Amino acid sequence: MIKFLDLHKINERFRSEIDSKLKEVLDSGWYLLGEQNKVFESNFAKYCGTKHCIGCANGLEALTLIIRAYGFGTGDEIIVPANTYIASILSITENGCTPVLVEPDINTYNINPDLIEEKINEKTKAIMVVHLYGQAVQMEKIWNLAKKYNLKVIEDSAQAHGAMYQGKRTGNLSDASGFSFYPGKNLGCLGDGGCVTTNDDELAEKIRAIRNYGSHIKYHNIYKGINSRLDEIQAAVLDVKLKYLDNDNNRRREIAEYYKQNINNPEIILPETYEDNAHVWHIFAIRTKNREKLQQYLKDNEIQTMIHYPIPPHRQECYKEWNNLSFPVTEQIHNEILSLPMSPVLTDEELDTICSVINNFR
Ligand SMILES: *Cc1c(COP(=O)(O)O)cnc(C)c1O
Repeated sequence: MIKFLDLHKINERFRSEIDSKLKEVLDSGWYLLGEQNKVFESNFAKYCGTKHCIGCANGLEALTLIIRAYGFGTGDEIIVPANTYIASILSITENGCTPVLVEPDINTYNINPDLIEEKINEKTKAIMVVHLYGQAVQMEKIWNLAKKYNLKVIEDSAQAHGAMYQGKRTGNLSDASGFSFYPGKNLGCLGDGGCVTTNDDELAEKIRAIRNYGSHIKYHNIYKGINSRLDEIQAAVLDVKLKYLDNDNNRRREIAEYYKQNINNPEIILPETYEDNAHVWHIFAIRTKNREKLQQYLKDNEIQTMIHYPIPPHRQECYKEWNNLSFPVTEQIHNEILSLPMSPVLTDEELDTICSVINNFR
């Protein structure tokens, strides 16, 4: 069986370094907001090119914290792609704000910047972009709109660690960005983890407090905060793996290139990439009219695939109020999309097999 993602194999490559870090944390007797957080936050901020990185418990809460720290709430609208993982939307509704959904571009799956302006009104406070599948959004038009209407730009970078737009990394393309370190992400820990990156000093200080019960000084609570911290163990593991992120992303690019060069089945539409963009291929998603049939055929041939995602947010039960809305591009993507195996530990032989099996699909 060719696995979609072999997490054990991914982490096994760093076993001795991770083992010694785990021992170091255990021996230190300090498990939250300590030296490991400080070191990782500093290294990840440097990596992204931002002034600040604030660790937190997961990607959803990274985004939730940003919106909360800006003080957006009931009555405020935040523009967000209709085609995204549910967490982007949940971070908005969790704060009582209203998500305003915008259709993606069919070829790149990312938000279509030309459809944003018509959704802006006096309630709009921010545009949340999602660098879906590892490809940075074309930010130029977004920045211009934000400037024109005085809006904040928030990035959901959960799938795009290390991706670039015009030579700048994700996490540094907006006012504030949320990252996830869920085990399956390009930079993943051994459980849940996340962070916020920003160049805004005031916002950074506020988020530092809000993630820790709203306090900078123990038992002095200046905000109604939450508990959303990055464990020392996870920070230590992430700091080990960060050193190898660029290498891993390069291997993902090789794999994507191989798929593009070698898949030539007319039933299959390959993903497109923008110029002036360094894609990190968190997911390699193809499209086909016969998605269920292709997935079953690949399964019969011992190739595991996934669907990111089978149900769009506006069709989810938890958002009943939108179930009758129509987003045809988003719906088409959800019906046709299929994610092929993609990870830095995929071998050339496996790639070869996947391509020839796909090319024989009728
Ligand atoms: C994974 C993911 C998140 C949420 O991250 P968690 O750490 O799982 O909470 C948010 N947005 C996108 C696009 C994601 O892929």
